[in-house]
Amino acid sequence: MKKLIAANWKMHKTYKEAVDFINDFLKEDSIDFEKKDILIYPPFLYVCEVLRLLEKTPIKVGAQNAYFEKKGAFTGEISPVMIKSCKAEYVLLGHSERRHIFKESDELIRKKVISSLEEGLRVMLCVGEALEERESSLTFKVVESQLKLALAGLKDYANMIEIAYEPVWAIGTGKSASPEDASKVHSFIKDILKDILGSNTRVLYGGSVNPKNAKEFLTQEHIDGLLVGGASLEVKSFLDIINAY
Ligand code: PEP
Repeated sequence: MKKLIAANWKMHKTYKEAVDFINDFLKEDSIDFEKKDILIYPPFLYVCEVLRLLEKTPIKVGAQNAYFEKKGAFTGEISPVMIKSCKAEYVLLGHSERRHIFKESDELIRKKVISSLEEGLRVMLCVGEALEERESSLTFKVVESQLKLALAGLKDYANMIEIAYEPVWAIGTGKSASPEDASKVHSFIKDILKDILGSNTRVLYGGSVNPKNAKEFLTQEHIDGLLVGGASLEVKSFLDIINAY
């Protein structure tokens, strides 16, 4: 399976910094696009411009979130229709910062997933357990429940969905899961996905990935790519991660 390396810029970078990043990134010709897909999630404001700059490249662009309504009086929200109209291909949903800081429920995430898929966007759904859940040996239960609540009944869209397994305690903390532990969870996720979607879906790992540990994750049997936050903000470290494998 082709690996997918995705950058989640979160709420980082000014407009100029975003444009400079893309221009610098485009100067590099070390990426083997036969072997991997590259995807960037800039903040909403820059999605159209980043797409324009990357138009003639195989690099894909996505939005970090979406509301489920198509349009209307929802000040501050962005709909899947709008994202699609910019020609972005992807949307990231259920990120732990959305679940925990903005209190997004599984029910809301499911509505966003359905609405985005109906608009023709590829959905990357994030799942992962919090530290207390891990310490109570609830990792598999939590992940199973998040997957089922978001994706049950969506078999028709199976080839539009990717999963990012991101243990909450590993995001932005410098404490990544061990590649072997992550791979076990990925294998479990793939079994669940075969049940609910009937598909062989790509499952990415996210949580404190950096140029030093990227290869170890990417060489695990069940890890099909990486979702990278902090280490995707600098061209060099993002490229080192991409080229680690
Ligand atoms: C993320 O934002 O999805 C993420 C994994 O962040 P970090 O790489 O900084 O842990």
